[in-house]
Amino acid sequence: MKKIIIGNWKLNLTHLEGIQLLQKINYSLQKDTEEYVEVVLAPSFTSLRSIQTVISTDKLKIKLSSQDVSRYSEGAYTGEVSANQLLKLSVDYCIVGHSERREYFHETDEIVNEKVLKLLDSEIVPIFCFGESLQNREQGNYLDYIKNQINTGLKNVRKDKVNKLVLAYEPIWAIGTGNVATIDNIIEVLEYVKVLVSEKSFFSEENILLIYGGSVSPDNASEILNTKIVNGALVGGASLDSDKFVKIINSISI
Ligand code: PEP
Repeated sequence: MKKIIIGNWKLNLTHLEGIQLLQKINYSLQKDTEEYVEVVLAPSFTSLRSIQTVISTDKLKIKLSSQDVSRYSEGAYTGEVSANQLLKLSVDYCIVGHSERREYFHETDEIVNEKVLKLLDSEIVPIFCFGESLQNREQGNYLDYIKNQINTGLKNVRKDKVNKLVLAYEPIWAIGTGNVATIDNIIEVLEYVKVLVSEKSFFSEENILLIYGGSVSPDNASEILNTKIVNGALVGGASLDSDKFVKIINSISI
């Protein structure tokens, strides 16, 4: 299976700065990268249009992701952006349930679920984020916590709607902190999640990608990305630096 590397730019870069970064990343990618890895960039809403234009005009082998989507389709919801609006911008993926949205914008598992269903209706691939806090981990109940996030967040997902689903394990204590999870932590959770979702009607080996996110850098990428169960990474801070981001992509050797 092709690995996937997603750059989450978060609330950074104007559309012009985004274009520059896209061009630098594209210039540094090896010619055959797309044969073994899908490279995805997730800029702010304001940059989606410009980035998409460069990708399609220059025929780049880079996919586009949104960082969020509305749970509503249309109407009086000031400030929201719908799945259909993203689809019309040729957005391929969308991050949903990122811990920063759960924490700062009070997104519950139920809201995340509504967003997942809207994305699947629009044939946009959800990058579904889940992961425990430091407190959950220290209390030892992190697997139950994750089980609940997944069972609620992926409720009513129908097999006929799922072409692809990215499940991103992002322990909150590892995001933006420099505290990367150990490979044993990652394997334990991804194996647990694989069993959990394999019991669901929408599961098939080919359509579920299990990835890791949390302080991935050129120093730790090789060990993480060359572990069999890990299908890729969601990269925050290091994705804003083209050298670091491309080094992470290039560390994939299987
Ligand atoms: C993220 O925001 O999803 C993330 C993993 O960030 P960082 O790589 O900076 O920890």
